[in-house]
This record gives sequence, C-alpha cells and structure tokens, in this order.
Amino acid sequence: MERVRLDQSALRAVDEYWEYRRIVGDDDGGTLLTPEQYEEYKRKVLPLRMKNRLYVSFGVPGGIDCKFIGPETQCFCTHRYKQHKTDFEVIPSGRPLALPCQVRGCQCSTYEFVPRNGPTPVRCKCKHLPQDHSEAAGHLCKKCTSCSGFQSPFTCGCGQPSYAHQTLVETKAEREARGRPLGRDVPYAAMGGLTGFSSLIDGYLAMEASDLVNKCRV
Ligand SMILES: [Zn+2]
Ligand SMILES: [Zn+2]
Ligand SMILES: [Zn+2]
Ligand SMILES: [Zn+2]
Ligand SMILES: [Zn+2]
Repeated sequence: MERVRLDQSALRAVDEYWEYRRIVGDDDGGTLLTPEQYEEYKRKVLPLRMKNRLYVSFGVPGGIDCKFIGPETQCFCTHRYKQHKTDFEVIPSGRPLALPCQVRGCQCSTYEFVPRNGPTPVRCKCKHLPQDHSEAAGHLCKKCTSCSGFQSPFTCGCGQPSYAHQTLVETKAEREARGRPLGRDVPYAAMGGLTGFSSLIDGYLAMEASDLVNKCRV
C-alpha cells in the first residue's frame, strides 16, 4: 500500500478546512466563503454563539442525561442535529425551545432524538420504524391507522421506557441551574450537549464507568 505523504502546508490546509467546517457548518450553502467573508462571519456569529449556546440532551425529566446530542446525531426526521436551527441572535423566551430542521421540504418542527437499538432506531408500539411516521409534529404513522403518534416502549439503558424521555434544549443559565457541566466555550456550530470527552459516552454508561472508577479506588 502506498503511503500518502502530506507536507506541512498541506496538513495545515486540512486543519484549517476542518476548523472552517466546524465553525461555519452548512451556513455557507455549499460554497466556501472567501477569507474576507469568513472573517466577517466569525466576527458576527462567534460572540453570539458563545453567548447563546444551546445544550441538547435526552433523558427522563429530573433524571440523568441519558444521551448527549452532538452535531452528527440523527433526529426523528433522519437529518442530523447540525442540519437544524442551532444559532439564535436572541433566544426565544417560550419553552420548550423549538429547533426546526432546515433541510428544504422537511416538516420537522423541532429536533427530537430517537434511541437506537444497535444499528436501527427503535420501533413504535405500532411496530413501525420512526421513518414510517410523519416527521411533522404528532408523528402519525403512514403505514397503519391504529397509531396515535410515535411512542416507543423500548427500555433505555437507564431502565425507563423510551417514551418517558424527552429531548431537552436548554440555555447555559438553565443548564447551570440544574447543576450540569457546561464545558468550555467553543466557537463550533451545533455542539448540542457535547461538553467534553465524557459527554461522547451515553449518560448511563458514563455513570457505570465512574462507578467502576470509584470501586477501583476503594
Ligand atoms: Zn429534517
Ligand atoms: Zn429534525
Ligand atoms: Zn404504524
Ligand atoms: Zn406508530
Ligand atoms: Zn434513559
């Protein structure tokens, strides 16, 4: 196998590209911003993004954060978190905060996490998959008439059924008031619930891991 050689400047270009992607996301509409536009974008968006960061997690109200939503985490509508509205100049005062999907033609009114059972998303009690249901609010089934809206009895790692969970979108102040970690301020788009390395692990697994660490210390 031939080894790919990249010289220092090529490596720097790759780094800069990833940095650009994580900052700009899809906001450039598929056409790279010019260096001037990029500087302008950063000047305009970054202070707001740092100030108005939204944290997104999935859990039973009052319980642990079972899952932290990251930029690539899929929504009920099958699109990723980063494809939803995640930047606000002014955070709306109404709760729950709605983060509608921005993919053209998608009816999704707000980001909603669906747990997975291995590689496939969990099924509704009507036995159909999330994608057999409308992505619009109410999530009615398109394949049967007995379903009154997607509801999965699947048991989450925390022991509670999936339908008892909700996707929580909260501001920094709201998250702080719940005593949850905020992580560092970062300039990247659609960070959702990612606040550090441990948030890459599902909440209940992280709890088990820290349990294990505690047991090992004893
Ligand atoms: Zn969508
Ligand atoms: Zn969506
Ligand atoms: Zn159905
Ligand atoms: Zn259903
Ligand atoms: Zn759970």
